[in-house]
Amino acid sequence: MPTTSSTAAAPEAADCLFCRIVAGDLPAEVVARSVRAIAFKDIAPQAPLHVLVVPHEHHDDVVDLAAADPTLLAELVALGSQVAQELADGQFRLVLNTGARAGQSVFHVHGHVIGGTELGWSPA
Ligand code: 5GP
Ligand code: ZN
Repeated sequence: MPTTSSTAAAPEAADCLFCRIVAGDLPAEVVARSVRAIAFKDIAPQAPLHVLVVPHEHHDDVVDLAAADPTLLAELVALGSQVAQELADGQFRLVLNTGARAGQSVFHVHGHVIGGTELGWSPA
């Protein structure tokens, strides 16, 4: 088992912002749910559509998730597509920041579903 991943029931989940949102201990503007993931609006939106797709189960980042449960990663992609269809025109950018230098600030894997407008391309 990867040392950086754990289930939502693990002790560190109490200190994880997104585990607490998944558990309902912190509020979030939920827009959709799948069997094992949740989609809620980003608190600081960068585009007209900016939703986070988050698995219930805690994994630190997408590398850990892909190794541990690729089916769950596919579920995140499907949920992002559903949200983009329901709240925008179906086109979207899916961003998975991985590591602090890449912009990751919450270390519970999440995809940014961004769209609702013409998007530029300027990652650095
Ligand atoms: P990261 O920087 O890890 O790729 O993305 C974390 C995202 O979580 C940021 O876009 C940030 O605005 C969002 N965020 C941080 N705290 C909260 C919160 O309490 N609620 C919601 N809905 N989003 C949050
Ligand atoms: Zn977590």
